[in-house]
Amino acid sequence: SEKEQTRTDSKSKAAFERAKRVIPGGVNSPVRAFKSVGLTPLVIERAQGSRITDIDGQTFIDYVLSWGPLIAGHAHPEVVEAIKRTAEKGTSFGAPTELETQMAELVCERVPSVEVVRMVNSGTEATMSALRLARGYTGRSKILKFEGSYHGHADSLLIKAGSGVATLGLPDSPGVPESVAAHTLTVPYNDLASVKLAFEHYGEDIAAVIVEPIAGNMGVVPPLPGFLKGLREVTLQYGSLLIFDEVMTGFRVHMNCAQGLYGVTPDLTCMGKVIGGGLPVGAYGGKRELMERMAPVGPIYQAGTLSGNPLAMAAGYTTLKLMTEQAYQQLERLSARLHSGLEHNARTYGVPMTINRVGSMVCPFFTDKHVINYESAKTADSERFRTVFRRLLDHGVNIAPSPYEGWFVSTVHTEEDIDQTIEAHRLALAKL
Ligand code: PMP
Repeated sequence: SEKEQTRTDSKSKAAFERAKRVIPGGVNSPVRAFKSVGLTPLVIERAQGSRITDIDGQTFIDYVLSWGPLIAGHAHPEVVEAIKRTAEKGTSFGAPTELETQMAELVCERVPSVEVVRMVNSGTEATMSALRLARGYTGRSKILKFEGSYHGHADSLLIKAGSGVATLGLPDSPGVPESVAAHTLTVPYNDLASVKLAFEHYGEDIAAVIVEPIAGNMGVVPPLPGFLKGLREVTLQYGSLLIFDEVMTGFRVHMNCAQGLYGVTPDLTCMGKVIGGGLPVGAYGGKRELMERMAPVGPIYQAGTLSGNPLAMAAGYTTLKLMTEQAYQQLERLSARLHSGLEHNARTYGVPMTINRVGSMVCPFFTDKHVINYESAKTADSERFRTVFRRLLDHGVNIAPSPYEGWFVSTVHTEEDIDQTIEAHRLALAKL
């Protein structure tokens, strides 16, 4: 209950009230408002490494990491230095730079399916552009997505869109015309039989299947064995494109993204979050033959005043360079330690919990069911999540304010951070 709260939030409260007068709901992205957990959000003063500090002067071990991008932690000295150095030479030119080519070369080298890549400014732009390309290329209008998957807020994709939308209980969004929504087919995640059925009915009209190769917006839900391979086969059979939305998974779960981890090659890949190292970046890429259908080579249009922004390229490039094989091994060690600690706590107190984890995406669901899709994710106890969320904050641990989000670990979390987190979690589970 509110009475248990030990966190001081008077300054955050005042700042949030002030924000609400001039920003809708006081936030520039809905989930930040802490609405579903019924608290005042932390209003942030600063962050460094694994720690984030609010304007009330309290510091938390952070597993939100700006919702994924900060894989090397907050304000990594090398990233900050690269941004500063770049900024001194100008912040935007709207003209080609060598930096953006260097970035593209690195992405092409790391991501198996990507021969050519275009930079944009957010994950939303990446998926929206990839869909336009898929539709322009195939001349078809329908797309197939999975229930509970979030691919950004483009009209065609705000259908059964998980995470923020699910958290707020909005089934679909007003403002998306029915005629647009009608082109979006949705089936349960990990359900290849439903995908095949959809293709039997609409196969000739389906431009693309868009999938999070590890779902990260209904909590973390890994693909079942054969699921991604099955999607590859059925899309090839019907001449549809397979789009991996790796905005969350890209460079987080593996140096070569989820496609490197699972050995399945999509036609197009959408990236975001980590690729920008905390600055606003998205990207989409794939085979040359496909990507060169885009303007100025081809007729399909997509543009951006700030795309390939030098500061963003500098932050992203430096972050990707920090992510060596050893860095991924370190992430795995830390995440495994967190995973087993949380599991141990659940067993100690007899709290039903299913933990899904792929590398540094860790998601404890308060359910005893296997979580393989949105329906099973929804069996998790959201009241219990709220209680544990509040207690974790009280004990100095910041996780995403939604049961439909995983915890992200960074390379600069220490073993002590992890152990302190496990202890905070133990205390949070103790009197459930
Ligand atoms: N796709 C996925 C898988 C995401 O997780 C997100 C953001 N959570 C997006 C797309 C949209 O990215 P952005 O918020 O940068 O527009």
